[in-house]
Amino acid sequence: MVYGNMGDDCGTGVAFTRDCSTGERVLNGDYLTNAQGEDVVSGARTPEPIAKMKRAKGRLSKVYRDLERLATKLENHFKDVQDVEFTFEHYQLYMLQTRRAQRTGAAAVRIAVEMVGEGLITEDEAIQRIPPQDLDQLFHPMVDPKASVTVLAKGLPASPGAAIGEVVFDADEAEELKKKGHDVILVRPETSPEDFHGIVAARAVLTARGGMTSHAAVVARGMGKTCVVGAQELDVDPAAGRFRVNGRAVKRGQIITVDGTTGRVLLGAVKLVTPKVGKDYETLMAWADARRRLRVRANADIPTDAKRAREFGAEGVGLCRTEHMFFEGDRITLMREMIVAPDEAGRRRALAKLLPIQRRDFEGIFAAMEGLPVTIRLLDPPLHEFLPHTREEIAPLAKRLKIPAAQLERLVHSLVEANPMLGHRGCRLGITHPEITEMQARAIFEAACHVVGRGSKVSVEIMVPLVADVRELMNQTQIIRRVAQEVFQREGRAVPYLLGTMIELPRAALTADDIAKEAEFFSFGTNDLTQTTFGLSRDDAGRFLPFYVEHGLLSEDPFQCLDQEGVGKLVEMAVKLGRSTRRDLKIGICGEHGGETSSVKFCHRVGMNYVSCSPFRVPIARLAAAQAALEEAGVVNRTRATV
Ligand code: PEP
Ligand code: MG
Repeated sequence: MVYGNMGDDCGTGVAFTRDCSTGERVLNGDYLTNAQGEDVVSGARTPEPIAKMKRAKGRLSKVYRDLERLATKLENHFKDVQDVEFTFEHYQLYMLQTRRAQRTGAAAVRIAVEMVGEGLITEDEAIQRIPPQDLDQLFHPMVDPKASVTVLAKGLPASPGAAIGEVVFDADEAEELKKKGHDVILVRPETSPEDFHGIVAARAVLTARGGMTSHAAVVARGMGKTCVVGAQELDVDPAAGRFRVNGRAVKRGQIITVDGTTGRVLLGAVKLVTPKVGKDYETLMAWADARRRLRVRANADIPTDAKRAREFGAEGVGLCRTEHMFFEGDRITLMREMIVAPDEAGRRRALAKLLPIQRRDFEGIFAAMEGLPVTIRLLDPPLHEFLPHTREEIAPLAKRLKIPAAQLERLVHSLVEANPMLGHRGCRLGITHPEITEMQARAIFEAACHVVGRGSKVSVEIMVPLVADVRELMNQTQIIRRVAQEVFQREGRAVPYLLGTMIELPRAALTADDIAKEAEFFSFGTNDLTQTTFGLSRDDAGRFLPFYVEHGLLSEDPFQCLDQEGVGKLVEMAVKLGRSTRRDLKIGICGEHGGETSSVKFCHRVGMNYVSCSPFRVPIARLAAAQAALEEAGVVNRTRATV
């Protein structure tokens, strides 16, 4: 036995061989003289920083030097940063325990790259050592781990980072307050496309309902905006201007902090820390890029997202959800005009007004991507999602459209579906309303021709959503090809393009060999494929999935990590069937799983060409893809765990 509490020449402490917040190569930690480990851990006494030992006169500084020597020896042996518990008795140092130290994402990157420089580990080991999802921490403010917090509720960590703001319950109010310079948090029972402008204006979004692929989650993640969904303890009452949670009421205007990395909702303004992205990150990503086979694209709907995606290293746009272009500003009104038009002629008139807007957006995205592939998906959601629902929302729209409010109300009700996600959406819309597909195809081809005319390159891929049968796809490709010919003739130039489909329904996966006769590429929509394979509503599963995970009925939320045993089996089968028809079939994934480590590795193993994810997740996917390639090549991760 050795004792740290035998007098002032004894003591105990915890040392880290490098700074685990920043990664700096400096011995640090805490110690207490005349104390036992208990005293340091319990917080009964406030420990001193180890740096003080170094500066101490006399034999305490020798303990520090011994500790430094020990740190170097341990790092040389374990090739990793160590978290060491020690005691000194009459100035004689004893090590009690050492283990691999936990670290922030920023520290992990710096440590790994510097250790390569020091000859401790190889580049391959540096790549394998960093959990890809930890890269998220490099690009978002985080709650200071040392901050004391009051947790109001916990939901699903839908989009990482942390944000502070005043609570608002209404998208319009969020927008107005933002214009006045306020930071706001949009709190809703759940969001719908009508809340889009509120999401844009808010620092963070918090919902009581919804899962990892619900509207709020997908939209916020795409924008890199902090978001927590499915915080079930919240009883949100927008009309009363408050939410209740565990006996507490939080009113409109009150300040909260939303931690999208952990899913916590915190009372008041909590201290945040903003990491810096340095050259070590660039070095690591260059090593990763040199090793990966999978290409990495981004899901981006507007030119600014596409530009940001490229900054994160995206090699194309794997999914442009065209419906997102229709939610902003005046566009939603034009969209509504199209939906409520009594006949095809009326719809065409409204679509003609939408055409130049879509064309401009596509031009922006093509220009931002400078010849990298851009996959544009045709309109997907059920039409009624674009319509107002309450009487207060219907009345002004009816006035604008010059129709009686009662008539518009009837129309809105007639469009309501019992199961909208299984209803009149995806290619079913373009099949029953071919003029929508025509307009979108025209906007895409005209935009491509204009951008090429300005001397840039474009690589166009048009994607048809929610196909279950090859005949649906043929119906749509026929329209698209016809429009292409018309546009190319009028513009006096042709641009090459690919026509493909989402594989997001089990029937599509099962008949992928047939579908590949018509499709030049597949993109797995694993959000819908998970929803339809499990028979789980992606918008409602948040109510019980956490319970399933907690009680071991599922090891992970299948909307976060691809369910490789079930949904993955369909994916693998569809890849094989598709390539049995078309050997060079280009295959990717654009569901939210495209930015999740284990799912990216799965995509590598089944032979996909690319993954596509929200811009902020592109670095995660790049690193995960490199790890997958190294695992395939049998490069062993020599990171050692605790001793
Ligand atoms: C999907 O279903 O995986 C997908 C990418 O499409 P969305 O999320 O828009 O339905
Ligand atoms: Mg889908």
